[in-house]
Amino acid sequence: MKKIQSNKTKLDIPVVAGIENIFLSYNIAPAAYHGGKLNGVDCREVMKLAHSVFSDIKNYLLSISHSDRCTNEVLISICDLHADISITLDIISSKMWIKRGETNDEDCTILERALRQLDHLWSKAGLSFTPKIHGILYHALHQWKLLRGFGDMLEDDLEHLHQTSKRISDRTSRMRNKTQQAFSHSKIEAKLNNKEICAATSAVELDAKRTFKKRKTDTCARGKDAKLERDSNRMTSLQTIEQKEHIKMVSFYDDEKGRILASTANED
Ligand SMILES: [Zn+2]
Repeated sequence: MKKIQSNKTKLDIPVVAGIENIFLSYNIAPAAYHGGKLNGVDCREVMKLAHSVFSDIKNYLLSISHSDRCTNEVLISICDLHADISITLDIISSKMWIKRGETNDEDCTILERALRQLDHLWSKAGLSFTPKIHGILYHALHQWKLLRGFGDMLEDDLEHLHQTSKRISDRTSRMRNKTQQAFSHSKIEAKLNNKEICAATSAVELDAKRTFKKRKTDTCARGKDAKLERDSNRMTSLQTIEQKEHIKMVSFYDDEKGRILASTANED
């Protein structure tokens, strides 16, 4: 058994496992509870690191020799195309996470350009237009313009609201009187939503740890610089992607369909 294992060459290691290892090297792991898919945080990470992640995957795939493997040319363009899709998605999500009323004209121009690019890349990649991607491509911009940003209304915040609500429910769940229970729930909720109370609470907390207060302003400033830098990097990437000529990916299904159509045409 040992001998067989040691005789195993690179080819015998499933390619999927190899790609998973690449993701792991970036601390990105398909979550078991997510059916082996990436969770939201990891998806953001993939978008942010798309350049190097996909170039690692590309080099890994190029190193594999197999009789069924597609040509280097096709392999390279598929990897590059998916890297570009991730980068474009990163630009789009950065604009869509802008909070209500905080967008400007430049954001709008960039978002429009990135959406056009995504639409183009998505069909080049032969990916299917699911309801989610359709919503992003054809409906999100309209609402984004109406609300001038909706970052504070997205899933993450809704998820956060669910959690807050659950925490309150946990506190009130043992109450026998249902009316009293509902009343307490809304009272706690109102307290949490009250800006003055929140401000007072965090002021007390900040007072309690003065060093933390100082560090916090530092990280804020640094965060802003980093954000500006990320934004300009994103802009450069978008410009490069827009200028690229992507080749159209033909899926196995389309390929077969084309072949069958061609053969029936010949029979006529
Ligand atoms: Zn629609």
